[in-house]
Amino acid sequence: MSIQDNLKAIKTELPEGVTLVAVSKTKPNEAIMEAYEAGQRVFGENKVQEMTQKWETLPKDIEWHMIGHLQRNKVKYMAEFVSLVHGVDSLRLLQEINKQAQKHNRVIPCLLQMHIAEEDTKFGLDESELQELVQSETFKAMENIKVVGLMGMATYTSDKTQVRKEFAHLKVIFDSLKQELSDISVLSMGMSGDYTLAIEEGSTMVRIGSSIFGSRNYS
Ligand SMILES: *Cc1c(COP(=O)(O)O)cnc(C)c1O
Repeated sequence: MSIQDNLKAIKTELPEGVTLVAVSKTKPNEAIMEAYEAGQRVFGENKVQEMTQKWETLPKDIEWHMIGHLQRNKVKYMAEFVSLVHGVDSLRLLQEINKQAQKHNRVIPCLLQMHIAEEDTKFGLDESELQELVQSETFKAMENIKVVGLMGMATYTSDKTQVRKEFAHLKVIFDSLKQELSDISVLSMGMSGDYTLAIEEGSTMVRIGSSIFGSRNYS
């Protein structure tokens, strides 16, 4: 199947209101352009340098999402153009995004990443850290970032019950955050292996790479 066929097949499965982020990390510009020509405009990358190079060379109506773990010293390279930062898991990182956004007179939309998986290898906040962050005066004072929702990754397992439970847990946190903050509308959960479950549990944004572009080669 071609990239265009894969995209079409996935899109027919997505309910209205669920945004598809085509995860193009490690993939060349030609692959991205194939998806672009099929109408895809939202792409996700996990390395700032790679995303910046792609942004410089590819059409300017592409929305670039940073989905990976982000280091503070890299924020400045993408502050001019990034559309959504998915993986924010500390106040210090949020402060840096705010500072760099200010230099470009922008308000950068961000998602806070929650730790929902059993594995302790995955990044993210727990519920008390989330509360501490959103209730801090520092957070409330920032004008150049806007937290628009949450992101999470389920445990990498074939146990669907486990994955569903983790997504359902994130949805509960999302719903309660909605009561606390205005502008909360994005729940980023679901990848190639688990997006169907994620959508059933309330995802509004799925991040799909290998099911569109084929497997990645990290050599
Ligand atoms: C790579 C990646 C994805 C996409 O993974 P696939 O299994 O290829 O769909 C989604 N989210 C994050 C955070 C990623 O790093």
